[in-house]
Amino acid sequence: MKITAVHEGALPISSSIRNAWIDFGQMDCSIVAVVSDQVRDGHPVVGYGFNSNGRYSQGEIIRKRLVPRLLGADPDDLLDDSGGLDPGRAWDVMMRNEKPGGHGERSVAVGVIDMALWDLAAKLADVPLWRLVADRHGDGDPDPSVAVYAAGGYYQPGKGLPELQDEMRGFLDAGYTRVKMKIAGADLPTDLRRIEAVLEVVGDGSRLAVDANGRLDRSEAIRYGEAISPYGLAWYEEPSDPLDYATHAAISAGYDGPLATGENLFSVQDARNLIRYGGMRPDRDILQFDPALSYGLVEYLRTVDMIRRHGWSPRSCLPHGGHQFAVHIAAALKLGGNESYPNEFQPAGGFADDAQIVDGRLAAPDAPGIGIERKAELYRAMRALHS
Ligand code: MG
Repeated sequence: MKITAVHEGALPISSSIRNAWIDFGQMDCSIVAVVSDQVRDGHPVVGYGFNSNGRYSQGEIIRKRLVPRLLGADPDDLLDDSGGLDPGRAWDVMMRNEKPGGHGERSVAVGVIDMALWDLAAKLADVPLWRLVADRHGDGDPDPSVAVYAAGGYYQPGKGLPELQDEMRGFLDAGYTRVKMKIAGADLPTDLRRIEAVLEVVGDGSRLAVDANGRLDRSEAIRYGEAISPYGLAWYEEPSDPLDYATHAAISAGYDGPLATGENLFSVQDARNLIRYGGMRPDRDILQFDPALSYGLVEYLRTVDMIRRHGWSPRSCLPHGGHQFAVHIAAALKLGGNESYPNEFQPAGGFADDAQIVDGRLAAPDAPGIGIERKAELYRAMRALHS
């Protein structure tokens, strides 16, 4: 097995939505196609990857550093002992001559190619990715379906309480049982009115999570926590800066409900610091590391191993991003579930075009690889890279 070419491009996933930190008017993502010398039905087998929302395309790092290393390596350096493609060995090749620490968005660039390599490895084995990962890195008995929750509730021009309620009703109608909304992009009284409007729709507080996107300082985050505590929400997400572990620990000390964070930690080392110093509680809190933003599945396997050694269950993990890749990982490694963005970040966001959410769960996909071929608009962009 040899990689014959890696094609790279950028895809707009922009929209008019806004969270507490950023708007998504300029948002895009990198896409790659990794072409192999293996042929099926007259065509080379190709793996596809893209990066999750919230970080921008990373073409420069992909083109100048990662792809030349992959294509310049001895082909055997990318293979396991039985001659199959080994994304772990390919990861080592991509990271040659890269210093530790200072991960920046290098982790996003590596994650895009890592996703494509896993897609390729599963297609070469002619199995869905969850099957490959469960057999190689799980217990061989994957979850048949994955709990997914609908993330939305953004700030948007012209969006008042009725429109917010309509959005949430739409999520419930689509089969979701749990939803998430943004907070901390308005003042506290306004946000409390927004939360209460959504609770009118979803009923119980356990069916609603709120996300501050790291916007609040220590005293504001504690004030928000005290104000929302009576609602008994599913979780309170990223109240403060993702790298300020001491502040997170202080918030945790005063908030009894579940806290969630981790989507902006991009390495096993950063994740470990959160576990060590962030005051996170294994009996209730949620870890949201996004494999597509944080050096891919090869690194995510190390992260899951790390949390286990610190007394955490993989069931505490709910990856950020709402993409197809993490659905496979959640099924294979028996995570707690996965995010979903039913209305945002198209065409990269979301699941297969014919995916059905039933009672808040999504069945593990049955297409070989990740199944990007079942997401027509994204597949069209991928195909255009290499045909
Ligand atoms: Mg978030």
